[in-house]
Amino acid sequence: MPRVDDLIARLDGAPPAVARAAARNAIERGRSELQRGCEVTLQQIVAQAQKEAGELLEDRVQRVINMSGTILHTGLGRAPLPLDFGRTQGEYAALEFSLETGERGDRQAWVREHLIALTGAEDSLVVNNCAGAVLLALAAISAGKEVILSRGEMVEIGGSFRVPEIIAQSGCRLKEVGTTNKTRASDYSRAVGKETGAILRCHTSNYKIVGFTETPSVGQIAAVAKEKGVPFIFDFGTGCMIDLAPFGLPGLDSFPGLVSQGVDLVLGSGDKLLGGPQAGIIVGRKELIAACAAHPLARALRVDKLTLAALEAVLRAYRTGQLDKIPLLRILGTPLPEIRRRARALAKALGAKASVVESESELGAGCSPDLKVPTYCVAIKSDSPTKLYQALLKVDPPVIGRIEKGLLLLDCRTIQQGDFRPVKSALEKAL
Ligand SMILES: *Cc1c(COP(=O)(O)O)cnc(C)c1O
Repeated sequence: MPRVDDLIARLDGAPPAVARAAARNAIERGRSELQRGCEVTLQQIVAQAQKEAGELLEDRVQRVINMSGTILHTGLGRAPLPLDFGRTQGEYAALEFSLETGERGDRQAWVREHLIALTGAEDSLVVNNCAGAVLLALAAISAGKEVILSRGEMVEIGGSFRVPEIIAQSGCRLKEVGTTNKTRASDYSRAVGKETGAILRCHTSNYKIVGFTETPSVGQIAAVAKEKGVPFIFDFGTGCMIDLAPFGLPGLDSFPGLVSQGVDLVLGSGDKLLGGPQAGIIVGRKELIAACAAHPLARALRVDKLTLAALEAVLRAYRTGQLDKIPLLRILGTPLPEIRRRARALAKALGAKASVVESESELGAGCSPDLKVPTYCVAIKSDSPTKLYQALLKVDPPVIGRIEKGLLLLDCRTIQQGDFRPVKSALEKAL
């Protein structure tokens, strides 16, 4: 094994801290390979150190080309953001500072103005994500009391987000009503008592109960909540701001729709079907929002200037009707013939191994289990689709496909303008 300092001397050009870390890692790796009985040469260790140094100097969160067939892929950062959001991308910004008075201002003023105008709610609060919004709303409004939830909505969203556990974490007691397949408005009505802190409804984003089922409408639950004088909180997740039927997704709830049906607090994600940054958007009644904003958890879940700048840009696009500025809606709104044209052009460029196949893109990210839109993919035959899939991860920018029935599929709905050439050259390199 070379000495660390000798190895550092061979890594000219790298800043000292980088060279040292890279040299140490390469030597450690070389040692463990020797222990496993592999042969290790000095050249290999030098090359490994150079590779490690290079990696340390690069941005690790890389741009990728998503052709996986999942439009909102949590592993790929969910919704793509408008690239030109705000003039504040990291600079000093008048974030919590009023340029009118020169004094402390309101961090959420701009997004609040848009959210109120767009949803018809009295007030809003934006926090780190929707999971945080649920925790905060329950803690601020119902701590120490019972939260009524249907047995059909005891959701696990993913990771460790289980609604019954979040209810417990927020200091509330879960009161289950109804059954897995059937819950009626009268079940809610009967369950409300002196101890009730809120009625909670949870959007069943990632599963569906079919068959002999019944669930009251949002309006019916809102009527019970109003009659009994308890808050009605809706964990919406999905977060649509407008009716997405013209984008091929009919029948979904939306923030304004839920507000108008009498939900007291609607909690949604910023980076699902809204098409914005990761955020938890809370809209609803003024006194409930005030209680959320005053709770200590609100500070712990506070959003930063990058989030607010991106969210403001996306909300402004909705408000001004410039929907083509929202990348997610551009993806959903791409006409099928255009997607087919992309797929045909790519397949043609690749020759005999590639063909065009009809397929479906999934929405993903727990929007709704059966939300899909039609698409076209390029299907590539290869002796080892796994190897090809892996090879495409190593090009710059990496291309993410998927393997289905022994073929590598590349979904052409989610490529953006300018992606065509890098995808083509990546494939030529990998094939
Ligand atoms: C996705 C989802 C969440 C979690 O949202 P994040 O913004 O990812 O924290 C919570 N509730 C529902 C119903 C969801 O669909």
